[in-house]
Amino acid sequence: MTMLVQNQTVSFDESAVSAVRQYCRGAVPLDAKLEPWMLQLIRSKRDLVFQAVADHGSPINVVSTAPFQRNIARLGQVACRHQVDLKIYFARKANKCLSFVDAGAAVDAGMDVASEAECRQVLQRGVAGSDVVCTAAVKTFDLLQLCVGRGVTIVIDNFDELAQTSAVASALGQPAQIAIRLSGFLHEGTKLESRFGFDIDQVPLLLERLSQTEADVLNVAGLHFHLDGYDARQRVSAIGHCLHVVDLFRDHGHPVASLDIGGGFPICYLEQQAQWDHFWRQHDRALLGQIPPITYRNHGLGRLVVDGAVHGRRNSYPFWQSVVRDDWLDQILSSSIEHSGRVAEAIRSRNLQLCCEPGRSLLDGCGLTIARVEFCKRHVSGDYLVGLAMNRTQCRTSSDDFLVDPLMIPKAARTSPTSSRLAVSGYLVGAYCTESELLQLRRLNFPQGIAAGDLVVFPNTAGYLMHFLESRSHQYPLATNLVYDLSESARLQIDLIDRKALV
Ligand SMILES: *Cc1c(COP(=O)(O)O)cnc(C)c1O
Repeated sequence: MTMLVQNQTVSFDESAVSAVRQYCRGAVPLDAKLEPWMLQLIRSKRDLVFQAVADHGSPINVVSTAPFQRNIARLGQVACRHQVDLKIYFARKANKCLSFVDAGAAVDAGMDVASEAECRQVLQRGVAGSDVVCTAAVKTFDLLQLCVGRGVTIVIDNFDELAQTSAVASALGQPAQIAIRLSGFLHEGTKLESRFGFDIDQVPLLLERLSQTEADVLNVAGLHFHLDGYDARQRVSAIGHCLHVVDLFRDHGHPVASLDIGGGFPICYLEQQAQWDHFWRQHDRALLGQIPPITYRNHGLGRLVVDGAVHGRRNSYPFWQSVVRDDWLDQILSSSIEHSGRVAEAIRSRNLQLCCEPGRSLLDGCGLTIARVEFCKRHVSGDYLVGLAMNRTQCRTSSDDFLVDPLMIPKAARTSPTSSRLAVSGYLVGAYCTESELLQLRRLNFPQGIAAGDLVVFPNTAGYLMHFLESRSHQYPLATNLVYDLSESARLQIDLIDRKALV
């Protein structure tokens, strides 16, 4: 296998991958996609990892910005092929580390901020206000003032926000750069419901309201949408509707220059589709009692048995998907819209800048969460419970479970027969005092045992899993964020977000 990392080619063979997987695997395996830097860290830099956990406490988050810049570049290449002017804004809420802000700025990415702190920090790091969009779901007076003052584009969600923004701009005597968030697009006969933005049917009312606002207070720089889910065809429908609105706004004298299609670019966490399909088949069988449970207390992950059949939707991210990130963007730009030709052509012919706000997809391959085992006990059920010094908010999103196998780094190399342990099977449990405090719901096998002092590694956690839900219940400190710098003789440095007293 050969991969490109920071313009250098790093090769690693399949045996290296199998070697890191030998100590821990799902009872029904879901093998993680791994980046070369991850393998290098786990295999060759294990002392560095153990030292970092000793120094900073468990768990630690380790991030690498090289795949982040690669992911940005790949989106840029797609746009280039389609001759579309693309501006990428990194959705910062997906990971708080400032290394990504700096790494993004270095390759001309803008930043999408979702709070006042996120906004202040990117401006402090030297990102120009004109390279920042603010999509915060709720915008305080202070945030609006900051945005107007620094020329940050404010994505307007509702009429109150519009009025507040024009009041702030008037008071500052400075025009506000705004984009209008739209939703409620018709897609294949169904309205795409959302709690965000102006419904597309409100556009005439919106134009009327804008015509009543002093012309030099608000500058409608663009239109914006961000859809739930990962359906490329829904994006094509939304773009089609928005292009009509662009024309309408321009007819009304608003020089709309950009169309922002938000984030939600899909990624794939797993090596093999066959494992993903097999897992869900086995899960059904377990729920039906045909095989022993493969999730804790036969957790349904959104599915449940009614009258002898399994029903319900999986409450999880589609950890295996086929058309991802740059290919997904390519698919959108290559699609046709009714009466307007291909998407790329329709955007180009209007002289529009295409903007997007990917979060998770830019962070693909950028992070690991590593925790220390504190105990391993045999439960009366026969299952082993492995206690890690971390809690479940430190590797979690709104999915019921992170359906990716962790890796294990044994404290001492298991080379001699005396150092080997009995195989065990069971579940990872965390530090919060509830019965439901499982770090992963899937049953895991440890063919060579697991014991206090070993480390468990969760792969590819930079997008949302590290920070989106992390909490300080029981007054546990938050995890320390470390940057793995490939160029500086493999050091782990504390990310600035943990180093400074920040606003
Ligand atoms: C969360 C969010 C994004 C990023 O979404 P991803 O799924 O991480 O790509 C972009 N734009 C808005 C408005 C968001 O709320």
